[in-house]
Amino acid sequence: MSTFKAIRIDKDDAGYRAGLTDFDENDLMDGDVTVAVTHSTVNYKDGLALSGRSPVVRRFPMIPGIDFAGRVESSTHKDFKPGDQVVLNGWGLGETHLGGYAQKARVKGDWLVPLPAGMTAAQAMAIGTAGYTAMLCVMALDKFGVRPAQGPVVVTGAAGGVGSVAIALLADAGWHVIASTGRREEEDYLKALGAREIVDRAELSAPGRPLGKERWIAGVDSVGSHTLANLLSQTRYGGAIAACGLAQGMDLPASVAPFILRGVSLLGVDSVMRPAPDRREAWSRLAKELDREKLAAMTKTIALADVPSAAGEILSGRTRGRLVVEIPQG
Ligand code: NDP
Repeated sequence: MSTFKAIRIDKDDAGYRAGLTDFDENDLMDGDVTVAVTHSTVNYKDGLALSGRSPVVRRFPMIPGIDFAGRVESSTHKDFKPGDQVVLNGWGLGETHLGGYAQKARVKGDWLVPLPAGMTAAQAMAIGTAGYTAMLCVMALDKFGVRPAQGPVVVTGAAGGVGSVAIALLADAGWHVIASTGRREEEDYLKALGAREIVDRAELSAPGRPLGKERWIAGVDSVGSHTLANLLSQTRYGGAIAACGLAQGMDLPASVAPFILRGVSLLGVDSVMRPAPDRREAWSRLAKELDREKLAAMTKTIALADVPSAAGEILSGRTRGRLVVEIPQG
């Protein structure tokens, strides 16, 4: 029997539990590419999966981890050959398909993106699904047509993964970034990423009025609930908010007033089922536009064995920026 190290989630009479184990290679799921995983990451959704707090995992046993970077070991897919460096985000990884917290993964080649030239696997996972989603939000705002000259952009969940990458990208693209955070002590960190103003998230997280003072032309929201409703109600005429997350809640207790009186738009952003051309564009833009020094400043690296405890940290909002998981080799 050939085994590899992996985090495994089980759910049975003994309860819901996650831990480091030896996983039998014969139990890998179908796929046309086998990858030696070198890095993964901890995203908010991984926290939900590891804790069992939301029904993210749809199959047991499961190897969680919604993303990975690694090297192709074997492939029958036309686009990939042994030795190629690859990245995978979403497509049900860690939810319905065995995921990234493992030395080995077998997946559909159609799900893979080549590691962008000039980027290491560790950097790709420092970006991870959170950073790739931040770029999808930036792309949504670009495509909509809002520009820095029209006014400020607001970023919520600022000290988290999506928020940190979004701030770095938007600030370097010339935006005046207003960062909303519950952690005032992270002001210096957020300003170093490029935020020009800091707003206490308590200002935005309580029920608000249908229309408020117009404060920003655009926004990236990873928080949802009242925060998203307040972002919309304070968006300037003709602006847009890209919404990707639910850290405060999945509800949207909003009014139609911003849509029908100010022509505001709500742009939904999904990363999981995103078609390949958008993924390639997002990764190619990340390679060019994300400042590597800022990326390093927002990244902490942890060991595979530390993943279960990191779940509690990210769910309680104590993680700053991004967590990379180094997968032991050999
Ligand atoms: P993080 O935990 O790193 O960031 C979330 C941040 O939200 C926290 O750091 C905190 O920022 C803020 N926050 C946490 N709890 C609350 C709360 N109760 N009320 C208001 N703000 C809160 O997570 P990620 O960056 O990995 O993910 C962010 C969100 O985006 C998640 O909901 C995730 O599921 C979603 N997401 C969605 C994707 C998609 O495909 N649509 C893909 C990737 C992520 P601060 O301390 O600065 O206030």
